[in-house]
Amino acid sequence: MPPSCAEIQPDVLVIGAGAAGIAAARAVQQAGRSVMVLEARDRVGGRAVTDHRLGLPFDLGAAWLHNAADNPLVPLARALGLALADSDALRHERTLVGDRPASAAELAGYDAAWDAFQAAVLARAAAGGAANGQDCSVAAAVPQGGPWDATVAAWQGDIIAAAPLERLSLADFAGTALNGRNMMVEAGIGTLFTRLAEGLPIRLSSMVERLEWGGAQAVAHGAFGSIRAGAVIATLPSSLIAAEALRFDPPLPVAVLEAAADLPLGQVAKVGFRGADALGLPEFCSIDRQVAPGEALVAMSARPFGRDLLACHVGGDAAAALEAEGDAALEAFMRAEVARRFGHQAARALAPKPIVTNWLRDPMARGVYSYARPGRAAARGLLAQPLAGGRLCLAGEACDARLAGTVGGAWQSGMVAAEAALAALR
Ligand SMILES: Cc1cc2nc3c(=O)[nH]c(=O)nc-3n(C[C@H](O)[C@H](O)[C@H](O)COP(=O)(O)OP(=O)(O)OC[C@H]3O[C@@H](n4cnc5c(N)ncnc54)[C@H](O)[C@@H]3O)c2cc1C
Repeated sequence: MPPSCAEIQPDVLVIGAGAAGIAAARAVQQAGRSVMVLEARDRVGGRAVTDHRLGLPFDLGAAWLHNAADNPLVPLARALGLALADSDALRHERTLVGDRPASAAELAGYDAAWDAFQAAVLARAAAGGAANGQDCSVAAAVPQGGPWDATVAAWQGDIIAAAPLERLSLADFAGTALNGRNMMVEAGIGTLFTRLAEGLPIRLSSMVERLEWGGAQAVAHGAFGSIRAGAVIATLPSSLIAAEALRFDPPLPVAVLEAAADLPLGQVAKVGFRGADALGLPEFCSIDRQVAPGEALVAMSARPFGRDLLACHVGGDAAAALEAEGDAALEAFMRAEVARRFGHQAARALAPKPIVTNWLRDPMARGVYSYARPGRAAARGLLAQPLAGGRLCLAGEACDARLAGTVGGAWQSGMVAAEAALAALR
């Protein structure tokens, strides 16, 4: 008979079985201490989940292992025997201007606009960062008005950072910029986390509703009962901490709540279609087009690993508005964009019943990943500060000042929190 909750008293209780929670639980176990993970969903992985409803792996959340050279998940995936592909090396790019391919001269202009953006961010961040109170928005620092500036801004803001450049702290943006190679996991990133969670004591469908952390031991309460632990690592997204979706008792310090509110989650909506083989594109093909200021950019990635898949992404406010309208509106928007780029015949060749994501509506996420508001780059460090001498540690992608917004950052923050919790137990 499984032990009742009252009998389980782990050294460390981990709340959430996403990347940060899995990392923390593994680290605690490896240190020879007992651990228990409580996860509100009926699955592990959090914002990293691989869907198979299309008959092939489709990552609804995280899809790339960024900064591959120093991403802790790359060697872990390899050790599990999971096949990885360097999607940068394999990528074919197609850029359109209107409904025709961009000319060589236009592509050179596009490359120059990317370089100018990068140079402006680095120069301005070096000249005055958060430390001296000059942390402006990214929009205030980058070139505008050139033929490709709005397209680069839409990529760097809405698609990559999940919010428009006006809302992003320059210091945070520069400090968390993605560098180097991006790898894809053939079986899906969600599959990687399912494998990494194997053997961990995880209770699914167990939402923590209240956490007492003022005494010598912490007590987590929910429909599962009550569980006592020597230390707690809570890996909720910053959106849920700011909204006080979990009742901390005593309440979290105001500075911590403010830090979470300064790290809102942006929005990206993905639609995955079968039928990409009919588009006549090479594998690992990335398709974009020049957009005007204020126009939503749809970033498409076709045929990863040669699969019959077209993943269409839109980010920022356009994604939020479309998600609010519903799945049919998102699907219609993406089909119209496919028709514009490849013709109506191609749009009709895409299979019915695509997979449409709903991260904003997801009550356990309320967005995709965090960005820092202008002037608030220090919030990540504040959120990651251990509380009660390490007996309560917050972790998750929003807490990592270098790889924020990514599974690598979430993993790293889980490791750091585990160290602090273990030290508190000692
Ligand atoms: C559309 C999209 C695209 C992305 N693309 C990439 C990418 O290509 N590369 C990349 O590196 N990253 C990407 N990311 C970001 C990446 O997925 C996240 O940074 C990472 O998965 C966050 O991990 P985490 O552990 O911090 O949080 P989560 O994965 O959100 O885990 C937190 C867990 O806590 C649980 N929880 C919440 N409240 C409670 C409670 N009260 N009780 C119990 N459990 C609770 C949640 O259910 C969740 O499982 C993407 C995300 C999205 C959504």
